[in-house]
Amino acid sequence: MNKKEDMFNRLVENAFDFLRVAIDDLNNDRPKYSVIHFYAAVELFIKARLMAEHWSLVVVKEADWSKFIRGDFKSVALTEAAKKLEKIVGSKLSKEELEIFEKVGEHRNKMVHFFHVAHIDNHDKEKADIVKEQLTAWYFLHKKLSGQWKDVFSPWSIRINDINESLKRFTKFLIVVFEKLSPEIEKLKHQGFLFRVCPSCKFEAQKHDTGQNIVYKSECMVCGLSEQCLQIKCPDCGKLVFFENEGFSTCENEDCGKKFEPNELAAILTDDDAAYRAAKDGDDESGNCSDCDGYHTVIKTEDDLYTCTCCFGTFGKLEHCDWCYDLNTGDMSHSGIFGCNYCEGLVGSHKDD
Ligand SMILES: [Zn+2]
Ligand SMILES: [Zn+2]
Ligand SMILES: [Zn+2]
Ligand SMILES: [Zn+2]
Repeated sequence: MNKKEDMFNRLVENAFDFLRVAIDDLNNDRPKYSVIHFYAAVELFIKARLMAEHWSLVVVKEADWSKFIRGDFKSVALTEAAKKLEKIVGSKLSKEELEIFEKVGEHRNKMVHFFHVAHIDNHDKEKADIVKEQLTAWYFLHKKLSGQWKDVFSPWSIRINDINESLKRFTKFLIVVFEKLSPEIEKLKHQGFLFRVCPSCKFEAQKHDTGQNIVYKSECMVCGLSEQCLQIKCPDCGKLVFFENEGFSTCENEDCGKKFEPNELAAILTDDDAAYRAAKDGDDESGNCSDCDGYHTVIKTEDDLYTCTCCFGTFGKLEHCDWCYDLNTGDMSHSGIFGCNYCEGLVGSHKDD
């Protein structure tokens, strides 16, 4: 194993170590320490993802390899790490992901630098709040580690599963929260809201709008997990199909089980919407997404916004690439020279000369 691999492995091991301690802290009734250790783990995983791209990304300012291997450097904090993930690695944290990680960080800072007012006399509430926060943050982190970042973290997949199982057990601290909310949930159901089992805390408390074909925000009333969701009618069986944060889903009707992918979702939404759109401006072109690199995944939805059917990002407008003329979500002002995500522009066309 070379030095770089060795450093990387130790970084990941350290991240798992902090997670394990955070879980022990909660089990041993030391919630305050759990917050501190949990946040350390979140930052370490993000740094590990940066390091997998290049070690220098972990360092603030000038990177020096000899200092790096001695551990003599200041490493990037969450906000800067998130920027580098987006701009350099091309693996952006979504708004929901960044928000919950920052929330854990703020919580941690309050604990370390002062004290957390809410936690002085209500011990059970403190514990429930911390469990909510960690379940939600882990839900997103787990998705990254076993999804988009799988190639980097697959050697640790067994440990990732173990952590997942351990954290799930904490939902018992939320039963009280759920019971308190139950009458309100019943009332909202009568008003027509749909409730589904929350993928993070597993209580049937995830509140959904009932409109179809438009991306909306769902929120779990127990743990606070917030997701970008979309519902469509399954073209095969007519049952409702739910999408969470991305354009991949499966029809839950057991007799159907149809699987969906972003491009098919784009086609379905465009079809459903064709009459409306033709009447509107006759433009039924799809665009490319610069956030997730989706090809022709961005379409116009009924709310007159553009939505990426892959990452569920929404955009106010699309612009033509001046080189290939494809529609794109990003800033296309230099695309004549540098192209878009899907063409190389003037520069690329002269590469072989
Ligand atoms: Zn929940
Ligand atoms: Zn179906
Ligand atoms: Zn996208
Ligand atoms: Zn282009």
